[in-house]
Amino acid sequence: MRVVLADLKGTGGLVAKDTVAGGYGSRLVPFSKVSHVVRFLKRRYINLPSVQMAYLAAICDAAGHEVVFTRHRLLDGDVALVLSSLVDHRHETAWADRMRARGVRVGFVGLTASKMPELFADHADFVVRGEPEEAVTRLAGGETLKGICDSAPTMDLDSLPFPRWDLLRVHRGGGFRFFVRPAGGGFPLLSSRGCPEFCTYCPHRILAEYRARSIKNIVDEIEALCHAYRRPYLIFRDPLFTQSRDRVLAFCDEILARHLRVRFDIETRLDRLDRDLLDRAYVAGLRAISYGVESVSPEALKRVGRRPVPEAHHREVIQHCRTLGIVTAAFYVIGFPTDNWQSVAATIDFAIEMNSAFAQFKLLTPYPGTPLFKQLKARIYETDWQKFDGFTPTFTHPNLTARELMFLLGAAYTRFYMRPSCLANVLKIQNTRVRSWAKRMDQRAAAFCSRAETEKMSRSVTC
Ligand code: SF4
Repeated sequence: MRVVLADLKGTGGLVAKDTVAGGYGSRLVPFSKVSHVVRFLKRRYINLPSVQMAYLAAICDAAGHEVVFTRHRLLDGDVALVLSSLVDHRHETAWADRMRARGVRVGFVGLTASKMPELFADHADFVVRGEPEEAVTRLAGGETLKGICDSAPTMDLDSLPFPRWDLLRVHRGGGFRFFVRPAGGGFPLLSSRGCPEFCTYCPHRILAEYRARSIKNIVDEIEALCHAYRRPYLIFRDPLFTQSRDRVLAFCDEILARHLRVRFDIETRLDRLDRDLLDRAYVAGLRAISYGVESVSPEALKRVGRRPVPEAHHREVIQHCRTLGIVTAAFYVIGFPTDNWQSVAATIDFAIEMNSAFAQFKLLTPYPGTPLFKQLKARIYETDWQKFDGFTPTFTHPNLTARELMFLLGAAYTRFYMRPSCLANVLKIQNTRVRSWAKRMDQRAAAFCSRAETEKMSRSVTC
């Protein structure tokens, strides 16, 4: 059987799929000068190939099938598996229609297909509901999938073959490194799936429960990557990489014991990090962490089931990362139900004060299948699912208009990135004289922002 795997290039703006927003995806259409720069950097350094497709490639190849991969071209084959997303589903279904017209059977996989099969059912021969590996193993074994096919989650993740990047034509060894990651990105890995936390807005926890691979299995995969590619850069896409401290320590020990020269970055919560853990992980190759802060308001966080991280711990971890040379990227969310102008301004102030190297601000989005979606259902006015992209207002906020939300989002990016201190962070400048000069200049930049904001909205983003 010839299997076509399709991770289609998104249309309109910068579209990220696969593990972004749990698989619903995001689309950044620049809405300000700074967001144009952010899109450029994301496209160059953060856009990643699909790890889900690489797993399916491995399963189909192991069963003796021919695997071909496409990002846009129509290819002949017996069956096509299309990675679904919410933000670009119309483009995906249009592609599927054309493939079916050529006589290829088409199936959709991924979080969106699992949670919203109705978006794809009329354009597919089958839609896989759940983590796709079990159903695709049946398909590769000769079963004909039809209609909505349930797929059980893989409880023993060690039983899966390693992702086959060669079949996806992904070659990411070496490369010029500037923002830690090499240009063109790196290899995404999943050392665990799901998340054991309870944030009600989060799509990462709604497909299956939390499971983790054994350390041996993960490091075997890394060793295989090191043999196949020159100096691979690893990007762990686990929503909560440091869930178990002991496991991370064992992972670092194993990397060092096997003398693997790798660099990697992770995503986690700051309360799952401490100085000793960071020291050990740095020696093993940790060079960047992404972490969710979401809001400075403990009240806003508690209302969405998220445990706040004490501010002192936050400061300590960021400072220690800076000392070690670990790049930090913080995620913030604007528009929690309890938010108002002042609370958003306070969150933006906090982001600037914490001074991580990078920050991502998004609007609160009630993703289908999350408890937040149910809670806000009566307030959701957006009927185009593609607009659930993380950067578009989708529901009537109790305290902020859509225009205010977009303004605050733009102001967050401008205030954060239009600072000399931000440039100093990105360039990893530690010189205290340069840093204190940059801090003084930050105040001028803030005054400039305040004037521009007042001109546009008759008020500035200060709390
Ligand atoms: S900790 Fe992060 S990944 Fe886990 S449920 Fe909360 S937002 Fe989602």
